[in-house]
Amino acid sequence: SARHQGKNQILFYDPLLTERAQKRLTQEHDILRGLEQEQFALYLQPQVNMQSGELVGAEALLRMRQPDGSYNLPEDFIVGAEELGVIGDLGRWVFEESCRVLAGWQKRDIILPLSVNISAVQLRDPGIVPHLQDLLARHRILPGSLVLEITETAEIGDPQQAVALLSELQRVGVAVALDDFGMGYSNLNYLRQFKSLPVSKLKMDRSFVSALPADDTMVKIIAAIAEIIDIDVVAEGVETTEQRDWLLARGITIGQGYLYSAALPLASFEKWLPRADYLKSDPS
Ligand code: C2E
Ligand code: MG
Ligand code: MG
Ligand code: MG
Repeated sequence: SARHQGKNQILFYDPLLTERAQKRLTQEHDILRGLEQEQFALYLQPQVNMQSGELVGAEALLRMRQPDGSYNLPEDFIVGAEELGVIGDLGRWVFEESCRVLAGWQKRDIILPLSVNISAVQLRDPGIVPHLQDLLARHRILPGSLVLEITETAEIGDPQQAVALLSELQRVGVAVALDDFGMGYSNLNYLRQFKSLPVSKLKMDRSFVSALPADDTMVKIIAAIAEIIDIDVVAEGVETTEQRDWLLARGITIGQGYLYSAALPLASFEKWLPRADYLKSDPS
């Protein structure tokens, strides 16, 4: 504390530092209060078979309600939550809420995988696997229904540790998708292990989809990798029919993006559930 550092500590009086510290405290308080007062919400974005128009899954995306009724995006609070050490609380809320959604669907005989994003910090928590195991049991979630989206970049530090963790997740019934695929790996040798890994999907980063049709290099590379290691690809950020058709021509059938729908509040998303043909429906 300032007292221990002595009164002459220049750093303590640095107005910039004080301002930053203040901001952090405010943000930490905001997040914890947000959890307490149920200011967080999961929005769901459809994942669609672009060939048939069929709904094949959903991704849960976190939103934080502001006092004025608007919603903050994850970019405004996830990194802060990680730095402040409250990402664990937030992540547990996200898991709990996702399982509530899945359980609700299961009761109505709707079997649809729900993808949930998990932060690197959460993955390093040694209690994560037992926590998920307990959660799935408590909500009686069918194996494979909850999918963790692990960002390719940060988390897969030590491959051996990653393989062990992914296997543990599979053992307790959690599926894994690699998010933002194509942005992270420098070590292609790593991909060999995928054949034996319980990774169910690669999510092609949005930047490669938005480069279409002018630059199709990464789409071709990822499509080839996926074919070789025999894994499904989900294209992120599909916005135009032109992009959709390019992806389909490369054998990438699952898409997620504004062409189909942005992330929606649960009630709005659920209006889509009984509809077989996604593409022909009018979302407005
Ligand atoms: P992500 O997992 O790669 O999620 C995809 C992001 O792309 C979402 O942004 C989504 O709204 C956006 N998106 C989807 N389709 C389109 C499209 O056609 N065009 C464009 N321009 N964007 C599209 P969002 O919701 O702002 O989330 C950003 C990131 O925040 C996510 O990237 C994910 O890494 C992180 N995130 C979201 N929810 C959570 C969460 O519950 N926990 C953690 N740890 N991270 C989360
Ligand atoms: Mg994701
Ligand atoms: Mg992504
Ligand atoms: Mg992304």
